[in-house]
Amino acid sequence: MHSIVIIIGSGPAAHTAAIYLSRAELSPTLYEGMLANGIAAGGQLTTTTDVENYPGFPQGIGGTELMDAMRAQSERFGTKIISETIEKVDFSSRPFKLWPEYVDEGSFVTADAVIIATGASARRLGLKGEDRYWQNGISACAVCDGAVPIFRKKPLVVIGGGDSAAEEAMFLAKYGSRVTVLVRKGALRASRTMASRLLAHPKVEVKFHTVAEEVVGEEQENGLMTGLRIKNVETGKEELMEANGLFYAVGHDPATQMFKGVIDMDEENYILTKPGTSYTNVEGVFAAGDVQDKRYRQAITSAGSGCIAALEAEKWLSEREGENSAEVLEKEREKEKGAEKPVNGEAPEYRQNPLL
Ligand code: FAD
Ligand code: NDP
Repeated sequence: MHSIVIIIGSGPAAHTAAIYLSRAELSPTLYEGMLANGIAAGGQLTTTTDVENYPGFPQGIGGTELMDAMRAQSERFGTKIISETIEKVDFSSRPFKLWPEYVDEGSFVTADAVIIATGASARRLGLKGEDRYWQNGISACAVCDGAVPIFRKKPLVVIGGGDSAAEEAMFLAKYGSRVTVLVRKGALRASRTMASRLLAHPKVEVKFHTVAEEVVGEEQENGLMTGLRIKNVETGKEELMEANGLFYAVGHDPATQMFKGVIDMDEENYILTKPGTSYTNVEGVFAAGDVQDKRYRQAITSAGSGCIAALEAEKWLSEREGENSAEVLEKEREKEKGAEKPVNGEAPEYRQNPLL
């Protein structure tokens, strides 16, 4: 099966690209994945409850509900959605080849252009009690969840020592009664400016050489977390601290495994795009969303970059179509010339212009 454009992924970036491309009558095919990267089709937002910062929904909207609506909008304009995971790609020549999961080596699909929107997943720590209180106090996105009432005027904890941890702790300090940052080593990894702002913040305490061991909380179903057992790795001292919110800022893993060696990536395996665009190092392959953005990682920024990828893919395809037509015309002309060339020295047959 051949498509003009194949989109790999199913989050806000993929569906925004699909909406734009299908409205441009490019009939995109979108592979939404079957629990790809351990996440249901629809992407990271399917793992959360209310999304309160996506414009257009003043009362907030459920993450899954938002993604269902995006999917329906993609379909409405003619996107073909296939519930399979793409497992392997060959971008060495065009048309590009892609292998959906469970197909044999010969059953690949092809596309003139590809948009990679496979997203990322927030790293978890696997603490005791983590599954039980996930989204009931534990979150991997302070900017997304920090403002909800359960965290207001409550003691909150951030784990991590990078720029995200610093940024999130200072963001949370607006809502919580105090914020404790747990850093496993003796130093922050965050940039010097962020680190000094964090350390000087009146509502933030940074505990170095400290790791979390267990999340504790209310016993009933959907009970909230109330505390965190922590340990100083230097002294071995353990304590149970009061905490009503726990925010992981220990990095993300972009879903880029199958593009290794094919698409240029940074040291953390995020796809490198030409700044301000969705262009990758392979002409005709574009990237959008969290897979190429370790800085903002929001639904709206992913959707925005999906739009950019669609517009750039459309432009690239139309320019190529132009090139193709030029090539085809050139070949036609060559043929005509060939027909007019004398064969074995004979004069070409003179064709009278019927209009004369
Ligand atoms: P993702 O949402 O990461 O989706 C990509 C999906 O593509 C994957 O999940 C998978 O289903 C599919 N896929 C992956 N590989 C393949 C493959 N090989 N073949 C086919 N399909 C594949 N942002 C906000 O703006 N507001 C919020 O309130 C908010 N809350 C959040 C809460 C949580 C718990 C989390 C984890 C994130 C939250 N975010 C929020 C961040 C937001 O979800 C992400 O920034 C956004 O979803 C990224 O979109 P994306 O299009 O890049 O891809
Ligand atoms: P980073 O990878 O930079 O930092 C992750 C942090 O989590 C590190 O301090 C790391 O500790 C810690 N960590 C990892 N695993 C564990 C674990 N199992 N237990 C405890 N701690 C752990 O990720 P970020 O998300 O902070 O940043 C990603 C990129 O985005 C960076 O390039 C950053 O500069 C950029 N960014 C920039 C911002 C800005 O400029 N304002 C804001 C946000 C991100 P350790 O140091 O010991 O390895």
